[in-house]
Formats: sequence, C-alpha cells, structure tokens
Amino acid sequence: MGKGFFHVPTAVNEPIKDYAPGSSEREEVLEQYRSYFNGSVDVPLYIGSEEIKTGNTKPMSPPHDHKHIVGQYHVAEKAHVTKAIDNCLASRSAWADLTWEQRAAVFLKAAELIAGPYRAKINAATMIAQSKNIYQAEIDAACELIDFLRFNVEYMSQIYDEQPESAKGIWNRVEYRPLEGFIYAITPFNFTAIAGNLPASAAMMGNVVVWKPSDSQVFSAKVIVDIFKEAGLPDGVINVVYGDPVMITETVLASPDFAGIHFTGSTHVFKELWKQIGNNIHTYKTYPKIVGETGGKDFIIAHPTAKPQQVATAIVRGSFEYQGQKCSAASRVYLPKSLSKEILESVKKDIASFKKPGSPEDMSNFITAVIHEGSFDKLAKYIDQAKTDENAEIIAGGNYDKSKGYFIEPTVILTTDPKYTTMETELFGPVVTIYVYEDKDWSETLKLVDTTSEYALTGAILATDRYAIDEATLALQNCAGNFYINDKPTGAVVGQQPFGGARASGTNDKAGSAQNLLRWVSPRLIKETFVTPTDYRYPFLG
Ligand code: NAD
Repeated sequence: MGKGFFHVPTAVNEPIKDYAPGSSEREEVLEQYRSYFNGSVDVPLYIGSEEIKTGNTKPMSPPHDHKHIVGQYHVAEKAHVTKAIDNCLASRSAWADLTWEQRAAVFLKAAELIAGPYRAKINAATMIAQSKNIYQAEIDAACELIDFLRFNVEYMSQIYDEQPESAKGIWNRVEYRPLEGFIYAITPFNFTAIAGNLPASAAMMGNVVVWKPSDSQVFSAKVIVDIFKEAGLPDGVINVVYGDPVMITETVLASPDFAGIHFTGSTHVFKELWKQIGNNIHTYKTYPKIVGETGGKDFIIAHPTAKPQQVATAIVRGSFEYQGQKCSAASRVYLPKSLSKEILESVKKDIASFKKPGSPEDMSNFITAVIHEGSFDKLAKYIDQAKTDENAEIIAGGNYDKSKGYFIEPTVILTTDPKYTTMETELFGPVVTIYVYEDKDWSETLKLVDTTSEYALTGAILATDRYAIDEATLALQNCAGNFYINDKPTGAVVGQQPFGGARASGTNDKAGSAQNLLRWVSPRLIKETFVTPTDYRYPFLG
C-alpha cells in the first residue's frame, strides 16, 4: 500500500462498436487487416528483456486462406523454457513488492490502449489468426479483454479491502501475497481475451508468469505482448514461449518453484496436466494451485410453451457464431415434438440465408473457417458418419471444402437417439445435433440432458411456463456452470455473467471474478498485539 486508500476507476463494460458499412472503424480495421495480411511478421520468444529468435521457425497462415503466409514464429527449446523460469524468479521480488496501485495502473493502461490505438490491430490480428468475423473479433479481442482488465483491477482492490475484525488491544490484518514461485499460463486458440487474461490476472495479483499461447493464436498473442509492453509491464513479469507443448510443459512442471497453473483448453489435456502435477508433488516447494476451464457439450432445451422463433434464433446464434468454436456453443438441442417442425423450418431458413463460408475480410460473411486441418478433418469425419448412420440425418449443411480455407458448412444433424455420438462428444465446430422428444416426456428429457454428457459448462432452457422454468432450473442445477433462461447459452459478459463450468468442464473458478483472482494469492494473517502479556498465569489458575 502506498500513502492512501486508493479507489480504482469504476469498471464499465466496453461498448461494442458496430462496424457498419461506411463507418471509420470499419475502414480502419480493414486497412489494418490488409496490412497484416500482405506483410510478414517475425515473432520472437519474449524472455526477460530479450526478444529471442531461435531460428527454428514455424509459418503462420490464416485458417481461411491456409496457403497464404503472414509471418513466422520462433520455437523454444528446453533451454529457453528454463531461461523463462529463471527470468520469472529473478523478476519476482521487485514485482511482488511493487505497491498494488502501480500494478493496477499498468493493466488499466493496457485496457485503454486496446480501447484506443490498438483496437484495430488486435481485432485485425484476431480476424487473421483465428478467422473471426469483425463482430466476433470485436466482442472478444477488444471488448472482453478490456473488460477482463478493468473488472479484475476492481476485484483486486475489493479483495485487498476484505479484512478481518480486530478485538480490543489487537490489530488483525490480512495481506494477499502473490504465490511463492511462478505461474504457468496455457491458453487456447479460440479467444484472444482468454489468451490475454490468463497470464494478466495472475500477474495483476503480483505473480510472475510463463505464458504458452496456442500455436494457432501466436499472431494475435504478439499484439497482446506489444500492448503489455507499451503499458509498462516490467520485463520478466510475463515470459512468453511457444513450441512443443509437451516439452515446454514437462520442463515447467519439473521446476520446484512451479506454484500454479492457469489453463484453458480441452479436457483431456487438463486431466494429463493434473496427473503430471500430482506425479511431481514431492518436487514442489508449495502446493500448486490448479485452475482449468475446459471442454463443453452445451445444450438448449425447449419446453412445449417456448416461442418457436426464439428457440430457432437461440439455436442459430448459439451454435454457429464463430463457427461453433466457443466453449459455450450450443451443440445438443432437445425440442418438443409439437414445436419441432416450425423450429426446424426456421433454423433451415436462417442457414440457407448465410453466405457460403469465406474470408472475414468480406464483412458480409457470417461464417468463416475452422481453426486448422485437424479440426476440419475431425468435423468432416463426424459429418460423413451422420450421412451413413441410420439413426441420424443431416437436415442442413453437410458440405465441407479445405482447398483454400478450412470451411465447414453450418450443419444440423437430426437424430432419433438421444445418446447419439454427436449428442455426447465435443466437436468444437459448426455442427449441432437435435433430438425431438414427445411433449409428455418433458421431465424425463431433463434427466437425459443431465446424464448425457460428462461436461457441465453452459446450457439454456426456453419456456414461458414458470413451473417448467423452475423444474428445469432445479433438475439441471449440476449440468451447467452458466445457465440461461430464454436466451442462447453463449455470450457471457465480464462483470455480468462470470464464466466457468464444473464436472469435466473445469474447476469453475469463474474467469473475470474475484473468485478467480483469489486463486493467485496466498493470504498472510498478521496479528499485532499492543500490550503484550508478561505473565503466563490465567485468572482461573488463581
Ligand atoms: P487444446 O487443449 O488443444 O489446447 C489448449 C492449450 O493447451 C494450447 O496452448 C495447446 O498448445 C496446449 N496443449 C496441447 N496439448 C498439450 C499437452 N499435451 N501438454 C500441455 N499443453 C498442451 O485446446 P484448443 O483447441 O486450443 O481450444 C479448444 C478447447 O478449449 C475446447 O475443448 C474448448 O471447450 C476449450 N475451452 C474452454 C473454455 C472454458 O472457459 N471452459 C474456454 C475456451 C476454450
């Protein structure tokens, strides 16, 4: 604490720009997109004050134009990972002991840089690296990352303000120490905001970090690094390495100073990480904090009293925005027979109105490419299987083409088997599977929703009957960490709907909340006694 109880600026959600034709923001982002697309960036490792070019490089290409190269990034060897850890530890005490308002100022400045001079850059980089259309880039890379930074600063100050009672003659105080060691942040491809937030939230609380972005997101990760540097984040606080995830992770988790992991990605990877940490437990100086937000098989269930057009819109937006590559995307849907025909007709009509998937540079494209060839091939395999399986039928989409970009048509599978493979398995693409239930089986269908998948991330119920809403809210209480009533299951906003799920979907530490930040501190209670006793005898002994 400095010399005052400082109040941070009240956090407000960053307004979303609409990028309408002719607007200056649209022109600016398109100009930046073309400049990046026609340029060639060389992305180094960022370790301490050094930008290291190892010479062992990998090319970067937009998923919607995979033969086109927009630059390269340098791959770390084991020695670089060790160097990143050493730099963390060398930087730790200066950063951990810096007064909190100085740390807050760095991240508040980063938020303002994104809102202003870096907005077009971070959006254009996200359009190129992750094939987001401009609206999806704006709500993620610009707005959500700004919100994470602003709201977390506010939560941080609330945490510091949380203090114990003090009885007469003593003063109790708690200080929220950073963890003793360093944090390892591993981030997924699908949200630039998550990529920025996982290292930043731990660093904000005074920790030092080794950050490993996804190979598919390095292009936009570089812009995040540029922003943190310009915001004045000291060298060595966040050290960035890319390359073989297994080698990097083994090296990091072998360090006795490893103090916590902040992971977002798939369930099987997280389970492996947990196992490795368990195997190394005797190595560590402190019990590591383990935070992971992982996979989902998110649902929509409509009650017979739902409004068909609302259900159709929830399905189309919830399943296909960003090509279904949101962890919250709806991918299994339960419709009552009485409404199913009208809802399905409407969904098919909406899908028919989409243009064929294409580049985000053409702003009339709602759907662009999926992230990489591995994802494309997996999705194509499930689509082909649905074409031949007797208990499944493709009622919309079903085509794919990877000759230029990894394009998968938004696809709807109708199944007669509520446990059909695509009702259970996370596909992470623009494919939704629908099961039609008999209206009288509503309560049974709620049980099906609860027991069909190992995940519990997001889910939505649409109904107008209050008793049905109440019944579903109770019956589905453990199968979604974010539960939506009469809305789509996507689009959580920082500060409004803290995000995360349980079961195989993660540790539910709610990104963008005080709960998450508390994982990155180790409180120290300090009791000070003003008149210290001088005789051991208590009165009862007399
Ligand atoms: P991924 O698991 O393939 O990769 C995530 C990160 O883990 C990347 O940085 C990757 O390089 C790294 N990684 C991969 N294999 C590893 C290994 N063996 N050891 C250590 N690190 C390894 O996930 P992805 O494809 O980038 O992202 C999609 C997944 O993330 C989906 O399952 C999605 O549901 C999930 N996700 C969840 C949330 C959430 O909040 N619950 C948010 C976004 C994404």
